[in-house]
Amino acid sequence: MSSPIDGRVRLEDLPLREDLRGLTPYGAPQAPLPVALNVNENTHPVPEEVADDILDGIALALREVNRYPDREFTALREGFADYLGHGLERDQIWAANGSNEVLQHLLQAFAGPGRCAFGFGPTYSMYPLLTRATGAEYVSGTREPDYTVSPESAASQIADADPDVVFLCAPNNPTGTPLSLEVIESVYEAARGVVIVDEAYQEFAPREERSALTLLPGRERLVVSRTMSKAFAFAGARVGYLAADPGVIDALRLVRLPYHLSALTQAAATAALRHAPTMLGMVDEIVAQRDRISATLDALGYTPFESWTNFVLFSGVDDPGATWQGLYDRGVLIRDVGIPHSLRVTAGTEEESTAFLEALAAL
Ligand code: PMP
Repeated sequence: MSSPIDGRVRLEDLPLREDLRGLTPYGAPQAPLPVALNVNENTHPVPEEVADDILDGIALALREVNRYPDREFTALREGFADYLGHGLERDQIWAANGSNEVLQHLLQAFAGPGRCAFGFGPTYSMYPLLTRATGAEYVSGTREPDYTVSPESAASQIADADPDVVFLCAPNNPTGTPLSLEVIESVYEAARGVVIVDEAYQEFAPREERSALTLLPGRERLVVSRTMSKAFAFAGARVGYLAADPGVIDALRLVRLPYHLSALTQAAATAALRHAPTMLGMVDEIVAQRDRISATLDALGYTPFESWTNFVLFSGVDDPGATWQGLYDRGVLIRDVGIPHSLRVTAGTEEESTAFLEALAAL
């Protein structure tokens, strides 16, 4: 094995798994710019009174941190069941360090070598990475030019690919596109594998819209995953969760690491959930900024796509790399998601959204 000058062995010189060779890790830039609208966080900080309560919870947990935490994170699962409603119970809930880890657990249990997972592209960039890391193959399906998927097309693509795991990102990242319950039902009928509805952005959808949680009864292969990273303003705490049949939860116990959710994480998330309405207090304001961004982009001559999330994908960008850099140089970080002539921006506070719109108009 040859070591180059900097002392770091090259990946190709390591006995790395063949199927990992040539892959690129997740790498959204983390630049310390004043206006960071690139990874769909909630840019509003946790409200003061909630932060105090969370700190109290963490302080209590710290006194017992010499012991392993509750492996079944019972209080937290009860908190999520209460928050989600729909008659869900604790034994239908699972949680992990971010919904990325929730998805990883699902893939470890239901994908793996010789199996295949499927998503309608363009969709969340971690689906292929997480899938391949379990040794499974990832198949990308297609959407209409406006990024919607019809129930008929979805069902026929699933029938052709015959996947073990299906990802339905609802609403979809990076396009913001809503997904109707009809599509979810038709995919579930067409699939023999596990169907994961990733509702990471569900809280930003119109209030009257039904969640895929309403489809859970009688569908034991259906899983609805959620996160505290977006609407809940809790990205740094790393907490994601899902609702499914209790049997699915048993399958996940086979693959998780023992005590995977730290006592501090459990305490913080349980306390935050007690304040769910306050934590979600900024959702309406974010939705208003999202709609303002879309309207202004339209007025500036770009084409924003319909979004039920906290971000907007817009096309009509001649040179996305140059526009991205121009904004960067003005202190505004957004995301080039690799879709031709398009960029994605997160809806921030009113000031951040204004900074983005003004910088773009000035380019
Ligand atoms: N699903 C989707 C669609 C996402 O956009 C993200 C984060 N960008 C995640 C899951 C994972 O989020 P987290 O691990 O922070 O819960």
